[in-house]
Amino acid sequence: MNPEFARGLGRYPAYVYDLRGLADHARAVRAALGPTELFYAAKANPDAEILRALAPHVDGVEVSSGGELAHVRRTLPHARLAFGGPGKTDEELAQALALNAERIHVESPRELSRLADLGPADVLLRANLPFTAPNAVLTMSGPFGMDEEALNECARRIADTPHITLRGVHAHLASGLDAPAMLDLARQITSWALPWLRAQGVRAPEVNLGGGMAVDYTDPHARFDWTTYGAELPSSSRQALPPPVLRIEPGRAITAYHGWYVTDVLDVKTTRGATYVIVRGGTHHLRTPAAKGHDQPFDVVTPHGPPTTTATLVGQLCTPKDVLAREVPVPSLAPGDVVAFGMAGAYAWNISHRDFLMHPAPAFHYLR
Ligand SMILES: *Cc1c(COP(=O)(O)O)cnc(C)c1O
Repeated sequence: MNPEFARGLGRYPAYVYDLRGLADHARAVRAALGPTELFYAAKANPDAEILRALAPHVDGVEVSSGGELAHVRRTLPHARLAFGGPGKTDEELAQALALNAERIHVESPRELSRLADLGPADVLLRANLPFTAPNAVLTMSGPFGMDEEALNECARRIADTPHITLRGVHAHLASGLDAPAMLDLARQITSWALPWLRAQGVRAPEVNLGGGMAVDYTDPHARFDWTTYGAELPSSSRQALPPPVLRIEPGRAITAYHGWYVTDVLDVKTTRGATYVIVRGGTHHLRTPAAKGHDQPFDVVTPHGPPTTTATLVGQLCTPKDVLAREVPVPSLAPGDVVAFGMAGAYAWNISHRDFLMHPAPAFHYLR
């Protein structure tokens, strides 16, 4: 974030999205992936400007609700769409068919039957496989996807339903993994999925490996190793002929780095030995640190020397949970100083409880 730009915004708080930096990042990811298809998971940040900036550099968009379906189709009329997510309603399934979602990720045998009642569809079956990824931040088992028994049940029903076409398997099993761990998980998934799909007579199999590529909030400059991942992924299924279509659908690792939440200091005080910096806004705009229990990285953009003290940065909400960064090193801040919280481009504004306390909404700026 250019400090001069952040200081000159005039009204705080404000979200700033660097669309050019985002497009450059997505272009590099796309190039590193080679034959692997890249769908963007809209739930990370469905901002229309972000979708438009990403569109030239992704193969499609993954949506997880009727709302996302309608919004992404309106914003990108020609994008390839995949529709996933648990608990799809009949209305949403019908909408997916009407809006030409090219793949539907089926979550249960019952959902498959409801879809079959609505019309022809091309599906991936979402698998909940018993593979482990030791360092995962989130493990997506529980209600998501199906075990082998339910998958077999779906395959039998599809065999009896000519207008439903089985295209492949979807498996989003974990998140927060680095490239070697993601590759290891991919090998486990394809070595189960490809023989299984062959046994079902699927001729051009597709495997969607999900998202979840690691984003390290303690190091804003670190990036997932897309080069290694993209180069080695196809070899995870080299033995398979014809080679399957591999597809991924990351969200966070695409958009996290190119958003900032910029705001100014309202008050600084020391209470019972602890120093608090109270900024305009808070976690009702930037819920990420509260949701993930981390310190949101930030830069002080008004001129200052190096940190001289330790403080907790909080917002304006009347709850002790409104903490943006806890006991972090800061220079001696005063009201009017401007702070830019980084890594606020994914799961930030769109997951925030914005109406809580009825403070004004942030301004939005897009760098092109
Ligand atoms: C959330 C989600 C993603 C994106 O995950 P990221 O951690 O943002 O990369 C992809 N696929 C599915 C099914 C998801 O639920």
